[in-house]
Amino acid sequence: ILGCNINRNNHFFQPIAISTVSSSSGSSAIASLEALRLDGRLSLENNQLAAKDFGNRYHFLPAAVLHPKSVTDISSTVKHIFEMGPTSGLTIAARGHGHSLEGQAQAHEGVVINMEALQGQVMHFHTGEDPYVDVSGGDLWINILHESLKHGLAPKSWTDYLHLTVGGTLSNGGISGQAFRHGPQISNVYQLEVVTGRGEVVCCTKKQNADLFYGVLGGLGQFGIITKARISLEPAPKMVKWIRVLYLDFNTFSTDQEHLISTKNSFDYIEGFVLINRTGLLNNWRSSFNPKDPLQASQFNSEGKTLFCLEIAKYFNQEEYHTVNQKIDSLLSELNYIQSTLFLSEVSYMEFLNRVHVSELKLREKGLWEVPHPWLNLLIPKSKIHDFSQEVFGKILTDTSNGPILVYPLNKSRWDNRTSMVTPAEDIFYLVAFLSSAMPSSTGKEGLEHIVTQNRRILELCETAHLGMKQYLPHYSSQEQWKAHFGNQWEAFVLKKSTYDPLAILAPGHRIFKKSK
Ligand code: FAD
Repeated sequence: ILGCNINRNNHFFQPIAISTVSSSSGSSAIASLEALRLDGRLSLENNQLAAKDFGNRYHFLPAAVLHPKSVTDISSTVKHIFEMGPTSGLTIAARGHGHSLEGQAQAHEGVVINMEALQGQVMHFHTGEDPYVDVSGGDLWINILHESLKHGLAPKSWTDYLHLTVGGTLSNGGISGQAFRHGPQISNVYQLEVVTGRGEVVCCTKKQNADLFYGVLGGLGQFGIITKARISLEPAPKMVKWIRVLYLDFNTFSTDQEHLISTKNSFDYIEGFVLINRTGLLNNWRSSFNPKDPLQASQFNSEGKTLFCLEIAKYFNQEEYHTVNQKIDSLLSELNYIQSTLFLSEVSYMEFLNRVHVSELKLREKGLWEVPHPWLNLLIPKSKIHDFSQEVFGKILTDTSNGPILVYPLNKSRWDNRTSMVTPAEDIFYLVAFLSSAMPSSTGKEGLEHIVTQNRRILELCETAHLGMKQYLPHYSSQEQWKAHFGNQWEAFVLKKSTYDPLAILAPGHRIFKKSK
């Protein structure tokens, strides 16, 4: 604690509002920033990109965008704004790849820091026992994968999509089908370099400045800007057996999923998704999955029923070909999927991890990538997932035509409860991700309004049925809701904010704290 006086009623604990700057003090503050000596540059014009994100629903234009070429550029900018005090009104948002959904990486009339400008600095690999790599906070995971593979190594825990930055996913969690075993990406970090809201550059680990280390992980960018991270690595496999099997019954599906995430030597990746009233089943599957027997797969007819697809993968190297097949057979023999629905694909490790990018390219071609994305990501405790599925799949949601709906369980033991990320209070919880795309001009079922209403109904169900749900990639519009989200972690979160970013300069796009005046 840096000697802060915490007044629980003070200014920045007020209800949320978009931070606005009185234009005269704002413009003089920006003018003073221009006088800073930078290795990179400050851009005052043509900053529309910084007012956009993947969600495509919130657009707040910043007054300036910093394209840093060094960590010093970032620390001196933050320090300068901190030293101007509350009156400047300026806030700062670190922007990774801008794949937020509700303006979280934007700063209305403030300063956006383009973290990707720090990319390209050499990644340092430690290849001995417990290998790791030191990367910049603005590095994309896809680039880390490319570089790590040159050393026969790879990070252990991923997101489904790799064109995201280290700082962006570590500020949230970073969850994919490997998390049941390795935990989220925030469980696989050894060290961080962080620029706090006071402009200080702090190195932190589990032992050194641990309060900041854990605070920043899953901390929604509230306590500091991640400029470097040391990521844990493992030997990379060459190939992947990628499998999909179908279920007609949610209970059987989730029982098998839970069995697999609790089994030793299980699959290396376990996810799942829901299909409701879809025709052209195969063509509409979410990614570049090409089953070995497309004929059989395309002939499978769901007769309009809701289907649950278990998606699993086993990593291997060529010399393990026979043993991996035996292992897969043995694991599959313990499952209760519809026997005629085993779809198998064999791909390189890179193809597997980069699978969503293939879909991105297809969607971009059709002009369907840069549409509004009203996504909803929920963490539901295991004891309530059946209630949830009964009420949502087939009732609130009568089809899955707007995008994939992922459902898979995670082991809470792989989370470190010292991080800022909030999860439900049970040993196993499910990630349920409604990854909808809205057709811009549609007023029907494919339109934004319809999807937002559906999302609201799902959230209301969680509330009224007391499901103990926690949002992942959370989005709220009042501080009361944020308080409820953090629950008994709220006080500690507020304390950290007043310690590391006492003027509430950082990450205004979440609208948790308002910059003091
Ligand atoms: P941005 O959107 O640029 O920033 C996100 C937040 O982090 C903002 O608050 C920003 O201020 C802050 N931030 C950015 N950089 C830093 C930094 N260096 N230091 C401190 N704060 C920073 N998530 C998963 O967990 N699993 C998935 O499988 C997954 N798949 C996805 C697929 C797609 C197609 C998309 C668009 C998103 C997906 N996400 C997934 C969500 C994704 O992890 C988050 O949206 C993430 O924040 C995006 O990273 P970004 O680099 O674009 O961050």
